[in-house]
Amino acid sequence: MVILLVEDEKKLADFVKTALEHEHYSVELAFDGDEALKKLAIYDYDLVILDVMLPKKDGFQVCKEIRDMGLKVPVLMLTARDQPADKVAGLNVGADDYVVKPFELNELFARIRALTRRGNDLKPNRLAVGDLVLDTASHEVTRGGKPIDLTSKEYRILEYLMRNEGTVCSRTMINEHIWGFNYVKSNIIDVYMSRLRSKVDQGQTSAADSHSPRGRLQD
Ligand code: CA
Repeated sequence: MVILLVEDEKKLADFVKTALEHEHYSVELAFDGDEALKKLAIYDYDLVILDVMLPKKDGFQVCKEIRDMGLKVPVLMLTARDQPADKVAGLNVGADDYVVKPFELNELFARIRALTRRGNDLKPNRLAVGDLVLDTASHEVTRGGKPIDLTSKEYRILEYLMRNEGTVCSRTMINEHIWGFNYVKSNIIDVYMSRLRSKVDQGQTSAADSHSPRGRLQD
């Protein structure tokens, strides 16, 4: 899942980004309203976390323009505690929910989980390909009931591949979903893919391999 976090306070943005990545989300940052809208016009995001007080265009204006563009992406507003009117204003311009600053990370995570579940019936909590099962709520991965220990990036790659089972995922697509739009060398992606394959296939007989997720790659 790729989240666009729009927050001009750089320290807070970096802190939240790191916390979200720890929870297996990919995060892109935008530091003002214009930059956010430019990114939203080009890229697909699964969620937007949008601060109200932003340079250039404030969060309300950005949210209104997101909806005017016809984008249905869930929007979570970050509102100030001393501005109760912000909550109503945010919902009026098409935001889906809000969190009051300063917020607890656990509250933020809970809101994100609720919004991404609500917004996307096509994204069930439990993904299964053959005997390989990935639980997006607990982040547990098992094959034939046996747990597989994955790093955060490996988990995100596997989740992405399982959500797109049956389609060809290019290195560019994997790059954008896992590393955001900071392009990494394609051989780095290959290294992750091969580590992931060996972990997923460890202890499997060749007959069972026919069920392994084919992270079909093309350039
Ligand atoms: Ca701000």
